[in-house]
Amino acid sequence: MQLEIQDLSKTYANGVRALKSISLTISQGMFGLLGPNGAGKSSLMRTIATLQEADSGSVRLTGLPVDSYTPERLDVLTQKDAVRRVLGYLPQEFGVYPRVTAEAMLDHIASLKGIANSRERKEIVEGLLQKVNLYQVRKKNLGTYSGGMKQRFGIAQALIGSPRLIIVDEPTAGLDPAERNRFHNLLSEIGENTIVILSTHIVEDVTNLCSDMAIICLGEVVATGDPNDLVAGL
Ligand code: ADP
Ligand code: ADP
Repeated sequence: MQLEIQDLSKTYANGVRALKSISLTISQGMFGLLGPNGAGKSSLMRTIATLQEADSGSVRLTGLPVDSYTPERLDVLTQKDAVRRVLGYLPQEFGVYPRVTAEAMLDHIASLKGIANSRERKEIVEGLLQKVNLYQVRKKNLGTYSGGMKQRFGIAQALIGSPRLIIVDEPTAGLDPAERNRFHNLLSEIGENTIVILSTHIVEDVTNLCSDMAIICLGEVVATGDPNDLVAGL
């Protein structure tokens, strides 16, 4: 599976040119998108996640087996449907319903993602809660969670349905070092046959976790390659 981004451009209504003909090929494994604030990372992530349209250019996910798309056939799905079906997205800032428990929220999302059998949902939800180390607090309301707990909850939420493409936007902002480490370990446990895109302005996030990267600045890709080579040259 590969994500192919070609000549993607986006200018907002206020005239900001957030993406200027971005082209990138992203393969399985962890890919770091490094850039300062305002570089266009979130704009690119939202476009890949089909939450926003670019003005021109394309995003294509190639090489998925057709049977990932059952019951519909691949050829009747649009690329947008296909991406949504295999996507897990953890946005930079996401709200939680403060008076809903983690367990109930994940169960709800699982049913939205089409997992109809409640026993199957329970199994998936409990497995994810254990994975992100929130099982003990699964019956607490989300409003009582710390920043780090919310981020881990976000990862659990993004992992429902075993997505093949996971987008994580600036995940460690506001986390203390211990929570950051925990979050990094969690990310590196995500399966190898998955594309994980990690958007961040923190160089160490990328050098510690990613096998491939791009640097973006003012809406343009300025370098791509192995993180250790690229960062050594900074
Ligand atoms: P579009 O050009 O896609 O129509 P808008 O300018 O209408 O986008 O803004 C869409 C949303 O993004 C609004 O909620 C707006 O508050 C927010 N927004 C506007 N400007 C910025 C900015 N500079 N950075 C981040 N978000 C912004
Ligand atoms: P990053 O995620 O790297 O911080 P963004 O994609 O959020 O970058 O922003 C890129 C540029 O586009 C910035 O100048 C930002 O202010 C602007 N921008 C982002 N979202 C919007 C929006 N919805 N409307 C108008 N301008 C925006």
